[in-house]
Amino acid sequence: MKKIVANFKMNKTPSEVKQYLMTLVPRFDKAENIDLCLCLPYTSLSEAKYLLKGYPVKLGAQNLSECEAGGNTGEISGAMLKDVGVDSVIIGHSERRSRFKENSKIINKKIKIALKNRLNVILCVGESLAEKNTLKTLDTLREQIEEALKGLYENELESITIAYEPIWAIGTGKNATPREIEYAVKVIRKVVEDDFSTKASKEICVLYGGSVTNKNVASIIKAKGVDGALIGGASLDANMFLNILSLI
Ligand code: PEP
Repeated sequence: MKKIVANFKMNKTPSEVKQYLMTLVPRFDKAENIDLCLCLPYTSLSEAKYLLKGYPVKLGAQNLSECEAGGNTGEISGAMLKDVGVDSVIIGHSERRSRFKENSKIINKKIKIALKNRLNVILCVGESLAEKNTLKTLDTLREQIEEALKGLYENELESITIAYEPIWAIGTGKNATPREIEYAVKVIRKVVEDDFSTKASKEICVLYGGSVTNKNVASIIKAKGVDGALIGGASLDANMFLNILSLI
């Protein structure tokens, strides 16, 4: 079964999300071969919980606070997400790393808080264009994964999905080639093997994200070692997204 995660980013009002779900969800008929999770804006989570009731579509969030509760004005806790029906949360997205200065220490804390609240984690990792051009992809991926998963027990990896998202491919229309993806996924699994075990490296779910569309999804999803995709821009139109899902 392939795993598909949609990241809406900061798009769609609650009314627009409602419209979207009413179009997509009744027509999603690939539940037997697609594990689908929609990472919506916080403002839509509550209503989506009811709209998705009885449908094989999981609810996801795009971020959470690294703190438990209390004096953190404007933040959203793991407990709040769990209570509203969230299954999975994206952590370490490159936009949060660069624009909101989330370093590896914060990402590690967020992962631990998510796990404590029984939320699944979609950990995003990926190199910049400069790192790619100077052949630093391997080092970047190793460092990001090791820092993010520091202090975790092997059995906790069951709740972790790693999304390989090269920064240069996110929202640019330039996707990594299946060969580049296969290389990165191999590196990711090797890091998990070195830090945990061979079993863990085989079992961990690894996705690709970065300009996935209906034109490239079929070849990307077939790349060796790839368990699915994280889709941003192309998930925003319900009909376009249904078309992508039909190609998997
Ligand atoms: C993303 O935001 O994680 C992403 C992969 O975006 P896009 O598909 O638009 O490149």
